[in-house]
Amino acid sequence: MGKKALSWAIDFHVHPLPLLPDQLIVDEVEASGVEKCVLLAVDVDYKMLDEPRISQHVASTLFEAGSWGLYELEHAKVLLQLARTPNERVAKLVEEHPDIFVGIGSVNPAKGMEYVMRGLEEIRALGLVGVKLLPTLQLFEPWERREELKAIFDFCSKHGLLLVLHTGCDPGPWELPALSDCARPEHYRPFIEAYPEVPVVLAHAGSYSIRRPGIWLDEALDLVSSNDNVWLDIAAVTYLAVEEKFARKIRDRVGFDRVLFGSDWPTVFKTTVSEALGRLMTSKPLTEQEKEAVARENARELLKAVL
Ligand SMILES: [Zn+2]
Repeated sequence: MGKKALSWAIDFHVHPLPLLPDQLIVDEVEASGVEKCVLLAVDVDYKMLDEPRISQHVASTLFEAGSWGLYELEHAKVLLQLARTPNERVAKLVEEHPDIFVGIGSVNPAKGMEYVMRGLEEIRALGLVGVKLLPTLQLFEPWERREELKAIFDFCSKHGLLLVLHTGCDPGPWELPALSDCARPEHYRPFIEAYPEVPVVLAHAGSYSIRRPGIWLDEALDLVSSNDNVWLDIAAVTYLAVEEKFARKIRDRVGFDRVLFGSDWPTVFKTTVSEALGRLMTSKPLTEQEKEAVARENARELLKAVL
């Protein structure tokens, strides 16, 4: 009963990794004061790192940055194996708990047009409400995959789906900004501007980076301020809503009306959903109204467009 009284926030960024038992995910959400949570599929393939073209690109980028590539490549393979979350898994969880879960599918543009079209049809057939792209872990460069990206935006437009785009660095070798350049918000401006009817969530607000927190926040804010269809989530970068300098920058540039709470659970080391939410709700620089907006109201507004 006490739990229910607290259930009111919306978590826009949760990974139902295959290694997690279903019940653990449900328990985590119910214990955290979250009334709804968005589950993300992640279509990645560690075997791509064995393709010479890709492994050479990764190894040489790491090498130029002074990092020896062999161990990093093996580490990357492990990360991809852990992260891979099929569309069917997300759909099954949503089907079993439609009251708490909303599902977003994923398709990898690096696998070519035929694969992309099949993946999009699958996402739609499974009743998922959006498409997640991760240029880092999916190992694609946006300038090399224009056709596939255009097809994905077309599909989202035609079927009323939203697009969730990973922006910023990523753990492991992708902490190196040169390797995560593919996930800079600005690269996606042409698509975002060509499809004003497709809501786009820039996951991590272009900011995730251990080395340089807030790394491409300015680019993300530029996109928000010039396009009404762009939203930000603060998954793994809760500090954007807690640290004075970031909070003030966001308020001054775009305000908090298109900023969404996300926990990134369970990928942020030793952080539960309720800890991430607690940090947001006790943030000093945010007003009560801004906290309410980020924790729930903005997500409700956005989900209205796709549910
Ligand atoms: Zn994530």
